[in-house]
Amino acid sequence: MAYKERCESMELIILKLLSQRMTLEDKYKQSYHNLEKGYEGEVVFDLLTEKLSCKSFILNDLLLETSGAKFQIDSLIVTQDPIYLFEVKNYEGDYYYESGRFYTIYKKEITNALLQIERSESLLRQLLQNLGYRIPIKAYVVFINPEFYLYQAPLDKPIIYPNQLNQFMKKLNNHPSTLKDHHKRLADQLVSMHQTDFKKDKIPPYDLHSVKKGINCCLCHSFNVTVLGKKLVCDVCGYTEGLDSSILRGVNEFSLLFPNEKITTNVIHDWFQVLDSKKTFLRVLKKNCDAVGKKEFIFIK
Ligand SMILES: [Zn+2]
Repeated sequence: MAYKERCESMELIILKLLSQRMTLEDKYKQSYHNLEKGYEGEVVFDLLTEKLSCKSFILNDLLLETSGAKFQIDSLIVTQDPIYLFEVKNYEGDYYYESGRFYTIYKKEITNALLQIERSESLLRQLLQNLGYRIPIKAYVVFINPEFYLYQAPLDKPIIYPNQLNQFMKKLNNHPSTLKDHHKRLADQLVSMHQTDFKKDKIPPYDLHSVKKGINCCLCHSFNVTVLGKKLVCDVCGYTEGLDSSILRGVNEFSLLFPNEKITTNVIHDWFQVLDSKKTFLRVLKKNCDAVGKKEFIFIK
């Protein structure tokens, strides 16, 4: 199990919620697609690292800073020696490598993952030195998607291709590793230094009037849902969710989209749309939220 788990970035969460409730401009659609695809690739890589039985601390998704420079790490594995650093790319289809650059088959240059990992490695080395550690680092770019192919692939670069992943993991697993106190101390320090980065300029502007209200199906996201007794039933895919759980999901989504709005029974009643009984909201909110005054509640995540 990972020492630090991966979770979806706030940018991805908000874009996902907004994509269900408003029409996204193409640039936001594209960045939502890229974020989701990247995240899916990272999760696939996590499934492989989770199987490692060698002594290690697996830290997924770190945003660190050293000397004013921020750098993001998809996966970092602390073993006795070395520390492994991975930049995971979920590219799909045919690409080629030429004169130190990566291109799609349609000759469009893409981000050079080797430069990315080089920068992260250098900054991580500086950070470790500042913290007083002298553990070597090995950094790799991982192309995780089995449908990825790189023409003219360079031989001398730290790249792991999809069909090399199992072999790489086996080697990593067989590498002897004994962890000491300072390894744990380092893992704890890195986790505590992790920053969350959410820039509002990466998501479209929106307010209560520009997004579609209503609870939707948590499976197919259709808003054609009906309350039947203590259930919320999707009219499209038939998925059935407990009413209480759907109310809490609605509250959670509302508080993610509108973190500055107060959660009250009236607000949630208006947000949910498909249930008339304010009593039900009151009961669920009371059970799960701290009462602040008579009609206001603060949702506890
Ligand atoms: Zn559905």
